[in-house]
Amino acid sequence: MDLFKGGLGQTRYHSMQITHLGSGSKGNATLISSGENIALVDSGFSLKQTEKRLGGIGIEPNSIDAIVVTHHHKDHSNSALRASKAWDAELHCNLGTAKRLGWDPETGCSAFGNLQRVDLGGSLSFVPIPVPHEDSENVAIIASNGKGGRAAIVTDLGEAPADLLGHLKKCNHISIESNYDHTRLMQGPYPDSLKRRISGRGGHLSNSQTAGIMRRVIHEKLDSIVLCHLSERNNAPHIAESEVLMAIEEAFTGDLSISKQDGPEFTHWTGQSEPTRLAIA
Ligand SMILES: [Zn+2]
Ligand SMILES: [Zn+2]
Repeated sequence: MDLFKGGLGQTRYHSMQITHLGSGSKGNATLISSGENIALVDSGFSLKQTEKRLGGIGIEPNSIDAIVVTHHHKDHSNSALRASKAWDAELHCNLGTAKRLGWDPETGCSAFGNLQRVDLGGSLSFVPIPVPHEDSENVAIIASNGKGGRAAIVTDLGEAPADLLGHLKKCNHISIESNYDHTRLMQGPYPDSLKRRISGRGGHLSNSQTAGIMRRVIHEKLDSIVLCHLSERNNAPHIAESEVLMAIEEAFTGDLSISKQDGPEFTHWTGQSEPTRLAIA
């Protein structure tokens, strides 16, 4: 089965494949594939835009088995319900998120319990880890392919709880937000109340917070890191990248990439540090 066309080559049955369709305050969506099953973590773009991005890398929307929504904010949930119906894909979120979105856990979606493993078909599964993010019941996603591959998708949190750090220490791939540069945020035009919200416990991770987290969880089997959900106003890719790289230095020999608002640009496999650059059709 050639899941990702356009020169991406064969499916690697022991690897998980992670592809950001795009990331930022205007929308987030990340494909995770076990080779046999594909899940979309968040569906924050319009249905049309999501299908366009999938089509660009040769993914048939109907081949997506499940959509997992981390929390109710529109940049993560936008087209999830419509997409699940259009593609006949299972829709997963926790009860708090279902309630906020008006989805019926009896008929409209499958409600998971935090910290409980959720099967997504075949050997693909994930564990949702609650993270603090204001006015929401947000979760980080730790996905597994049952063959030793583990990938984390971590966005929209003011700080990382201890149990999340424990899980990250076992992941081969970590996609984590690096939302803002502290100086840019504080010197920027946002009102003080918004600055406090973004930098507070329920806000987003700054570059230096993300750098600190990565310093604590770095380990030999971590192949790749993707920094995502960068603020266009309060951050810049080169600042985020250098701050995180400086924190992990020689301990990390894998690939560090930045996911931008307009993607997809690359795919990572677990067990392999080099990403594949995507030629968009
Ligand atoms: Zn959010
Ligand atoms: Zn967000």
